Amino acid sequence: MSAAPQPVRHDLARSLAQSRTWDLVVIGGGATGLGVALDAAARGLSVALVEAEDFAKGTSSRATKLVHGGVRYLAQGNLRLVREALRERAILLRNAPHLAQPLPFLLPVYGAKGRWFDQWFYGSGLMLYDLLSGRQRLGRTEFLGAQAAAHLAPGLQVRGLTGAVRYWDGQFDDARLALALARTAIARGATVINHCAAVGLLHEAGRIAGVVIEDRESAQRNSLRTRCVINATGVWVDEVRRMDRTPRADLVAPSQGVHVVVDREFLPGGHAILVPKTKDGRVLFGVPWLGKTLLGTTDTPRTDLAIEPEPFREEIDFILGEASRYLARAPTRADIRSVWVGLRPLVKAPNEDPGDTKALSREHAVLVERSGLATVTGGKWTTYRAMAEDVLAHCMANQLLPSRPAGATAALPLVGAPASGERPLSDPPGLHLYGTEASAVLSLPGAEHDLAPGLSEAMVRFAVRHEYARTVEDVLARRSRQLFLDARLAASIAERTAAILCEELGERFDAGKSLRDFAALAGRYCQLPAQPAQ
Ligand SMILES: Cc1cc2nc3c(=O)[nH]c(=O)nc-3n(C[C@H](O)[C@H](O)[C@H](O)COP(=O)(O)OP(=O)(O)OC[C@H]3O[C@@H](n4cnc5c(N)ncnc54)[C@H](O)[C@@H]3O)c2cc1C
Repeated sequence: MSAAPQPVRHDLARSLAQSRTWDLVVIGGGATGLGVALDAAARGLSVALVEAEDFAKGTSSRATKLVHGGVRYLAQGNLRLVREALRERAILLRNAPHLAQPLPFLLPVYGAKGRWFDQWFYGSGLMLYDLLSGRQRLGRTEFLGAQAAAHLAPGLQVRGLTGAVRYWDGQFDDARLALALARTAIARGATVINHCAAVGLLHEAGRIAGVVIEDRESAQRNSLRTRCVINATGVWVDEVRRMDRTPRADLVAPSQGVHVVVDREFLPGGHAILVPKTKDGRVLFGVPWLGKTLLGTTDTPRTDLAIEPEPFREEIDFILGEASRYLARAPTRADIRSVWVGLRPLVKAPNEDPGDTKALSREHAVLVERSGLATVTGGKWTTYRAMAEDVLAHCMANQLLPSRPAGATAALPLVGAPASGERPLSDPPGLHLYGTEASAVLSLPGAEHDLAPGLSEAMVRFAVRHEYARTVEDVLARRSRQLFLDARLAASIAERTAAILCEELGERFDAGKSLRDFAALAGRYCQLPAQPAQ
């Protein structure tokens, strides 16, 4: 069976070149922008979205992979935020069960004091979490003894373990979910294109009238006329706000979060672990994901906005140090398969201390400037749909868009969504991540030839033909997650991947450049910051 017909990138570029006035142009193809494009298209508005790099190349491919209400925000007493996120968690799990699923967590407690105080303290908080989930609860919070906890999470440090609290949340494949959003928006009539940047804004009588875009493949510039522009560029929103002429105070204070990936043997079983209070008062997760274990994350203020930020040595030491306190077998630097860094777009409030990003708001912000430029940033992946509804409501209230009722995406299955997920996301990657499109993948040449476990030649062809992959990185970082799971392995299959891209894209594909770029990137994902000389 073949996948449902959809426009190829060339058709999308041609649609952008037509002379017309769009209802809405969205800048940025991460979770936020794609959510907006889908919501607007589902309400019948004409939408164009431009993404400078690739869908989810920014923060949206670098999450801890949790679809969650935010246990941490519960501790901060932000019940409204938690309740909204729990509602969105349920919607996401329903609309994309191949890419977002329930996951059980253990919160281990140690020592005699932990047995009574911590277990009671965290347990009652997590019971409140259950209560806030209402009918959308994914499982019951339970108190476990040390033996039961060690049985469920055999990698846990048992020395001093006195018990655990077990609770439920969700997990997802962030980059593939972003692709599903892009493709669902396209299926709903939106023109959503990657490798195409917004490089300027057009003004008429002091109001925004359009966006100047540059296709990074053809180097062609073009102007899109539109009634409304939504700036959804994550940590880069202030750069786009500066294109709007009047200089203003920055909205975002970025903070970086590092994850390291180690083999599954460090945390076998299907449970994630939550360390509720690290030595410096953060939370740390160990999450089984696509056959590996993710450990993270950190929260370090950062003022530069690199698309590929580098981890600091202290961040790696911190993650490994904390992991060694909670895992029976402590992972070392030599065990790290991949390390990646994401930038959180935290929203600044006036007079907040930019040095303490743990204290900055995790809520999203919507700002409509006098020119009509609407900016949406902050929040989290889990709440992308609520953020889309909110920014569209602001645009409608400001008469930038015609009024259309909200709720169009609450029960809208994303491309590929089966009735229920076949296999857990903690399992190694495979065809199950394609949902109802698995048979379309199998019908392509090379379905029986694997480049790496869970990545067949046919999947690479599918990535090009149906998922808008244009480079080796697009395939190995986001259509498949090889770069994030094992950077050395990803580097070793780059040439074979490039050869398939050549067959599929012909002379439009610059194999030499794509391979050089990917080799440099994979090098960064497996190279750790040097340790000081002893
Ligand atoms: C370490 C870490 C862990 C996290 N874990 C979780 C989690 O487990 N669960 C959860 O719910 N949330 C999590 N989050 C939060 C979540 O990942 C982010 O809130 C979300 O991904 C932000 O999406 P975005 O679309 O706003 O930004 P981005 O994903 O960064 O998207 C912005 C896009 O805009 C593009 N862009 C920039 N300038 C231009 C331009 N001029 N023209 C066109 N395009 C442009 C960029 O290339 C980028 O792709 C985490 C965040 C971090 C940093």
